[in-house]
Amino acid sequence: MSLQVHDLVKDFGGVRAVNGVTFMVDPGECVALIGPNGAGKSTTFACIAGQHWLTGGQVLWNGERVDSLPPARRLQHGIARTFQVAQAFEALTVLQNVQLLTQYPRGLQAYNVLENCSIGSSMALLEQVGLQGLAHADAQSLPYGAKKRLELAMALAGQNTGLLLLDEPAAGLAAPERVQLMALVKSLTQPRAGRAGMAVLYTEHNMDAVFGVADRVLVLIDGVVAAQGTPDEIASDPIVRQRYLGQWWQRPLDA
Ligand code: ADP
Ligand code: MG
Repeated sequence: MSLQVHDLVKDFGGVRAVNGVTFMVDPGECVALIGPNGAGKSTTFACIAGQHWLTGGQVLWNGERVDSLPPARRLQHGIARTFQVAQAFEALTVLQNVQLLTQYPRGLQAYNVLENCSIGSSMALLEQVGLQGLAHADAQSLPYGAKKRLELAMALAGQNTGLLLLDEPAAGLAAPERVQLMALVKSLTQPRAGRAGMAVLYTEHNMDAVFGVADRVLVLIDGVVAAQGTPDEIASDPIVRQRYLGQWWQRPLDA
């Protein structure tokens, strides 16, 4: 159940946003994709999850090409994602948002049956992300940190989610909330109830959400993988320091 990205290329008109990117993520691995703004991180996610068609290259999940499938079909194959700016159905409650996604693969006949659908499993997901107390609040009333957690619960609602793509999961969160959320993200890579841990690929600008969390780090610069390795290797890589982290950058103390 690994993700394999081979020689991924994505053009927007004359702009080559991703220029020949190759990497793998195995189940149970937590991999951070870092790099400056405009490096092509979100575009890479969109090519894996299906929001963009590829200009070139291949995306394989579990040994099968998925790059010609629409996002809903990729979701059925277990590929779920969240967005850089948190997305939820604003007019629904927190619980209804998760119910909608939990019930979706089982078939949803009409809006008015949602009330009774998948309540147990949806509440369990809200508990997992610490939102059970806000289950009946409107999604539009949520503080931003809670909305990021709701989006994570929605991504986890797929019955067979095996690959989780998180675009800046902790963006906009205060440090303590960020640490909590990243601990939750990391825990998803652990085997659970007889199932292998998930493969997690995430982007992040806060280095305390990278060092101490990621098993492996990919550095994307100008649409190209400029470096990859363990957090230790990346922290001491001269090119990464020069082009992204800065010469005077210091690794977060408790990471
Ligand atoms: P990152 O997430 O690393 O900040 P993006 O993947 O969002 O980078 O953007 C990579 C490049 O592609 C940037 O130059 C950006 O302006 C361009 N780009 C991204 N999305 C689009 C789009 N939908 N249309 C045109 N250009 C885009
Ligand atoms: Mg981005």
